[in-house]
Amino acid sequence: MRTPGRGRSSLPLDVVPGRYRFIGVKLTEESVYAVITDLRANVLEREVVALESLQVADVVALVSRIVTSFQERSDLPVSAVGVTVGGQVEAGEVVADSPFLHWHEIPFRALLREALGTPVHLDNDVVGLTRAQHWFGHGRGFENFALLTIGAGIGYGLVINDAMVPTSIHPVSHFPVNPGGPLCPLGHRGCATAYMSIPSIVSAASVGHGRSLGFEEVLELAKGQDPVARRVVREAALALGRTAAAISSLTGVERIILSGEGVHLADVARADLDEGLSDYGGAHDPHPQPIVRPMDFVEWARGAAVIAIHAEFPEGIRARP
Ligand SMILES: [Zn+2]
Repeated sequence: MRTPGRGRSSLPLDVVPGRYRFIGVKLTEESVYAVITDLRANVLEREVVALESLQVADVVALVSRIVTSFQERSDLPVSAVGVTVGGQVEAGEVVADSPFLHWHEIPFRALLREALGTPVHLDNDVVGLTRAQHWFGHGRGFENFALLTIGAGIGYGLVINDAMVPTSIHPVSHFPVNPGGPLCPLGHRGCATAYMSIPSIVSAASVGHGRSLGFEEVLELAKGQDPVARRVVREAALALGRTAAAISSLTGVERIILSGEGVHLADVARADLDEGLSDYGGAHDPHPQPIVRPMDFVEWARGAAVIAIHAEFPEGIRARP
């Protein structure tokens, strides 16, 4: 849903979007998701390749192969490549810590630049997705919005006064929800990650069942009234509602977008999400209802392309209706 008339109006666009090409690459633990786009991040072609190794040199070689193959097929030269990863990226240069890739202090941008010979821009994956939502997606027309993603970890992006606010990763992913709750990998009791991350949900439900379950299976069991899965998913949705309420309280954003591959838990237990949201709401100023927008990893790759577009055109390219 868009809200015409809200937010800053579109900037005039004096370049022709179709005359530019950008590549976006999003890395997950399992695969490389890549897209080639125009200046408005319209996806022209996509590619998904399984990652057989998380060794840095192997990943650089694979990204390089994918980029080269896009370049060879492209009708126009590629202006820049954007690459995003889950975890902490320092100054657009170094993957300081990525628990998903098991990388620490990797000068990934320099390595990619050397291999690709094209301008490369590196950032956190949620930053890319948030920028894409701001310019071209569900945050368009909102001067203030937040994006919360549920997946292997909990991601958080914030836009205030039409500008991306640099956010550290931990404040929301380890936001305290219930001090008597389950444990997260950092030893916190009842933080957002302990309740909501896919590994936490899967592990809690697997303990209850005494066998190893998958995330989709947990959601299916929860829909079917299985008492273990139902309880785990409802508690995760309640935690999600409380976290969204905290974001709303602390930032005053008008819109909160919920996404990530784990966000379907919100559909299974929407009443619990709403309860968590309203538990601490004001009588006259309720928190905004979050919108649930599942986005696949191709959308995250598009976010990586937007990192490159933003770096090349920092003044902003807002898509006009
Ligand atoms: Zn934690």
